[in-house]
This record gives sequence, C-alpha cells and structure tokens, in this order.
Amino acid sequence: MADSASITSLPLVFDEPRKAKRPPRHLADLTPDERAVVAKEAGLPGFRAKQLSRHYFARFVDDPAEMTDLPVELRSQLQAALLPVLATAVHTQEADGGATRKTLWKLHDGALVESVLMRYPGRVTMCVSSQAGCGMACPFCATGQAGLQRNMSTGEIVEQVVAGARLLARNQVPGGPGRVSNVVFMGMGEPMANYNAVMGAVRRMVDPTPDGLGMSARGITVSTVGLVPRMLQLADEHIPVTLALSLHAPDDDLRNELVPINTRWSVREAVEAAWNYARVTRRRVSIEYAMIKDINDQGWRADMLADVLRSYGDWGWVHVNLIPLNPTPGSKWTASRPEDEREFVRRLIDKGVPTTVRDTRGREIDGACGQLAAGQA
Ligand code: SAH
Repeated sequence: MADSASITSLPLVFDEPRKAKRPPRHLADLTPDERAVVAKEAGLPGFRAKQLSRHYFARFVDDPAEMTDLPVELRSQLQAALLPVLATAVHTQEADGGATRKTLWKLHDGALVESVLMRYPGRVTMCVSSQAGCGMACPFCATGQAGLQRNMSTGEIVEQVVAGARLLARNQVPGGPGRVSNVVFMGMGEPMANYNAVMGAVRRMVDPTPDGLGMSARGITVSTVGLVPRMLQLADEHIPVTLALSLHAPDDDLRNELVPINTRWSVREAVEAAWNYARVTRRRVSIEYAMIKDINDQGWRADMLADVLRSYGDWGWVHVNLIPLNPTPGSKWTASRPEDEREFVRRLIDKGVPTTVRDTRGREIDGACGQLAAGQA
C-alpha cells in the first residue's frame, strides 16, 4: 500500500471506510538529500530546496509571498512540489490565560486530529498526535473509543510542531516570543504503531536547522502502550529520546483490561523492554500510571509496582509519573481520592522509586491527557 519510505509499511486499518489517498508529499517527509532530488526533478538547483527548508524549519514560513529570496515565478512551483497544505486549523481553544492552547486540525482527507501547546515558565511543550484515532482501545482514553482512522505522515506530525513554533516566534502566545523546547507524543494515536513516520518526524525535529528544527532529542518523549518489538527497535536508533511506557497496572489481570494490548505483551515484557531502553540509551524511562479511583490505586498495587520496577535494579533507570485520571464522557471511572493518591506516592517513594504527579493542563478545554477525541469535537 505504501510505496514511499515516508509512509509506514505497517498495514493501515480503517474503522470507517475512507479513501486511502496518501497525504501530499511535503518537505518534512524528505531527507535533505531527497529534497534536493525533488528540486532537480523540477529543473531547479539543489540550493533552492535548502532555501525552502530554511523558510519552513527556521522561519516557520509557509506562505510563498513571504519567500522574498526566491524568484516570484518559482515560489508557487516550489510550494506545490514541497510545501503543500497538510493541515488546516478548524478550531482552537485556550485555557490558563492562553498558556494552553488546543488546536483541532483537518487533514487533506478530512481526518481530524488535535495538538496542544503548553507554555510553562522556561519551556514550551507541544503535545502532538501521531495517528488519526487510535487502535489500542484503552477503555479510559477518549481517543481509544473511536478506533483508528489512519496513520499520519511524517509531514503531518511535524506540521503540528511547526505551527506551534510559528505562533511562538510571532509572539502570538502570551509570555513573549519563544520556541518549542519539548515535544510529547501524547496526543492522539499510538506512536509505536506508526513507527516509520514517527521516527521520520523525530529526525526532522532533531536535525540541525535549516534541515530540521534543531531540537534536542532529550526534549522529545515518545509514549507507548508497550509495543515491545518497537521499543527494542527504538533503543537501537541512537536517538536519545525519552521513552514513556503507559503501564497503568502492575499486574496482568488488571492491565489486560486497562491496556488491552497487554494480552499480547505482558507487564513483564513491557517493563523489560523499558528497562532495556534505559540500559542501552542511559536515558531514564518514565512509567505512566493514570490514577483511577478504586481500580488501580490500592496501596498493595503501589507496592507491587515498586517491586516489579525494582526487580530490574535500583540504578535510577526509571521514574513513575502518576496522572490523575481525566474522566472521559460516559466513563464509569474517575480520578483517585487525594488521600489514596498520597498513599500511593508514599509507598513508591518508600521503596525508592522516584515518583511525580503530573500537573494536568487544559482540563476545561478537554486538552488534557487522554481527552483528545477529535471525532466528538
Ligand atoms: N498511545 C500512547 C500515547 C497516548 S496518550 C500511550 O498510550 O502511551 C498519553 C498518556 O495519556 C498515556 O499514558 C495514556 O494512557 C494517558 N491517558 C489516556 N487517557 C487518559 C485519561 N483519561 N486520563 C489520564 N491519562 C490518560
């Protein structure tokens, strides 16, 4: 189905019939060498591709009228070849005085995805989607309810970051001009199920400007339900991104229910692959754990979680990030009681497992973890 390296070779699964027309080819789908080839095919010298890369990745310009270093007659030709419109913002919502901003994007085929910009003192995090919908079906996650529509292309993933960078560079986010320092693959989708496109996007983010965005790999977090073969593969890429494993339960009985892919790769296998990532990359892995009242928040489960993690050693390879559950519409579950959360943290820390509780931005605009569900927007 996919005949281009820019599109994942994994089979696409459609829950709804949708025209399987690939997103248009974009600069961000291509390596710098491939861009030069495209320019040459259009009868242009390779440096034109470099100029275009500078516009897109360094100045965040995509409007040909602003590309004044390019001859007018070339602008639209180059734009058509390398800078097609990939996503149109159809809705934005703000919270926290504009410091949190969620955007609903319509892709070329009508698929809807969301991204969230979060500005904190000293850093800006973009939470991006990697798939339209998600096939992992975690029952507490809004995106999981609607199923998978399709994988996103590298260009579509990168465009979410560039759009945020553009707003910041143009002083359109309260707090003055700024830049995107962090990217988290915690929007819609399972990034490891769209591996090639996600890795292409990571490369564009870390490639030095003007070939890419020149970000630090350490500022990029890839979050996964635990697709073990892909986690092992990621460890061998030699790109030191941060890996987050969405564990949510230390025992297979409960995790089978909360994260259904657990029936394929168990708690042990997923944690072992996370440990392997830390071992190979020397990057501390993050264990994500949504705190769900009376479901996974018992003290004995905190002990069990600590024991599972500590069985791989106590050399600081892991920390636990607790996320108060954001209840999704119609869900029977809600966030843990504060006292249960405190006890859970206490037990983990007592057993020597570094633990933090996530600050959840943007709750009132449904921009918080697991609430991105474009189909319902
Ligand atoms: N598919 C990836 C990215 C998903 S979103 C993954 O599962 O890791 C990022 C995180 O938000 C995951 O840890 C996910 O389990 C969590 N999450 C999903 N729904 C949530 C909810 N309603 N409340 C709190 N966290 C949620």
